[in-house]
This record gives sequence, structure tokens and C-alpha cells, in this order.
Amino acid sequence: MSITYDDARELVVAYAAVIAQNKAYLTDLDSAIGDADHGINMDRGFQAVLGKLDGVAAGDIGSLFKTVGMTLVSTVGGAGGPLYGTLFLQLGTVTNGKSEIAGDEWLAALTAAVDGVQARGKAEPNDKTMLDALWPARAALAEALSEGAPLPEALQRSAAAAEEGMKATIPLVARKGRASYLGERSAGHQDPGATSSFLLLKTVADTWAGA
Ligand code: ADP
Ligand code: MG
Repeated sequence: MSITYDDARELVVAYAAVIAQNKAYLTDLDSAIGDADHGINMDRGFQAVLGKLDGVAAGDIGSLFKTVGMTLVSTVGGAGGPLYGTLFLQLGTVTNGKSEIAGDEWLAALTAAVDGVQARGKAEPNDKTMLDALWPARAALAEALSEGAPLPEALQRSAAAAEEGMKATIPLVARKGRASYLGERSAGHQDPGATSSFLLLKTVADTWAGA
């Protein structure tokens, strides 16, 4: 019932693969309401992350996530790089020095990550951003764990809530980021960042299904 360093590393490698597979999809979503680079940005960042993994202090989940965050900040431009960089740096702060974490520690890490993205980008609920997938994912995880659900089930519920949050961005009018320049014309399109955030929570649930 816990997540080991190897599980965390497996997650990072799996998410890099998911981003590579979804590069065109994420970029297409961004072409509708942004500047058609979200998939390209995320893929550039995670390919750079893969090259850094062997330099990570083995066994330290915090060091792993911090390396991901610092690599994203330094290799990805635009809004997505600093925001995802913050997300992973915060995951790394809470898990600093740990070789294994339980469900409640993953919840604490995800909470710090989501709060960090909010502090950095100042988005509010329903602004049509990645937080519209991350907030419900965090809330569903907290609820599932408080009900005593086994960790794999709690992670599935977290991913399902992220998916709902992602779909719920479609009718929204963007109030943050480039999509907000479109005003009402941003409605009717799924937010690219909410989509990459759903993919992150889905990869967490899939990778840690045996945790
Ligand atoms: P850019 O908009 O600079 O081209 P990306 O295309 O990589 O950067 O990322 C766009 C995504 O970033 C959006 O779909 C949205 O989810 C997210 N985003 C933009 N601004 C904010 C913000 N202030 N807070 C949270 N997320 C944001
Ligand atoms: Mg963009």
C-alpha cells in the first residue's frame, strides 16, 4: 500500500511516453485556443527529463521530482513550463528524502503541487486552466482516502475526477493564459493544460495500480 522510488521513476518514464504519444493531440487542442505548442513544449521538457534521470540520487523520490521540475523550468517556455515545473518542484518538496510514500503522503504532495500552480498562475476555478482538472483530482483523492478506499482505487477515482474536470473546461470562457485573449471564442474547446493534467493523473493511476 505504498509508492516506492522505483514506482515514482516508472511514473516519470511512463508520463514522458504518454506525452510523446499525445504530442499532436495536445498541440491540436492548443491550436484552437492558443499558439499550437502545448504538446511540443511538454514533449521537449519530458524528453529532456529522460536524459536527466540517471543523475538523480537513487532512492530519493523528492530528488527525482525536483529534477523533473527544474528540467521543465529550464527547457520549456511559455506558461506551461513554469507551471508544470512548479507542480513537480512542489511534489519534490513534500517527498524530500523519502524512498517510499503512503497514500496520505501522495495526497500531501499533490495538494502542495496544486496550491503551488495556483500561487504561481493565480487562476480561479472555472478559468479554463490545468487547475480545473487538478483541483477535482485532489479533492477526489482526499475523499477516497478519507473513506478508507485502497490506494489503487483512490488513484482511479482521482483520475476519473480529473477527466470530468477536463471535459468540463469545454464550454468555459478562458480567463487566464493565451486562450483568454480569445474571450467568448475560447468556449467550445477543451483546455490543453487540463488535458495534459488529466493525462498525468491517469498515468499515476495506471502506473501505480499495484501500489
Ligand atoms: P503557452 O500558453 O504559453 O503557449 P502552453 O501552451 O504550454 O503555454 O500551455 C497552455 C496551458 O497553460 C493552458 O491550456 C492552461 O491550462 C495553462 N495555463 C495558462 N495560464 C495559466 C494560469 N495562469 N494558471 C494555470 N494554468 C494556466
Ligand atoms: Mg501554447
